[in-house]
Amino acid sequence: MESKFTEVYHNAPAEGKETECEKVSKLLDLVIDGEATTEDQTYFNHHIEDCVACFEDHQKQKLLKGLVSGHLKRVIVPDSLALSIKTRIQATI
Ligand SMILES: [Zn+2]
Repeated sequence: MESKFTEVYHNAPAEGKETECEKVSKLLDLVIDGEATTEDQTYFNHHIEDCVACFEDHQKQKLLKGLVSGHLKRVIVPDSLALSIKTRIQATI
């Protein structure tokens, strides 16, 4: 199940965020596995609030993890969150 905005905004500019995104992508596995420290988890959560690319990665990884572990839960993106992300991205185009 793909979020609709995933396809539309995959070219969102990420300049100046590469270092943070790299760090977050390394944390992603730990977060998914529930092995991240509280500090890392907080950093991660804060980052994906502002970074659509990492947010989407997280959603996809959660989905994959759910499929692999055999107890897939529906990944729910609140409409208000999706909308606020869309609005933010559109403002930068
Ligand atoms: Zn990022």
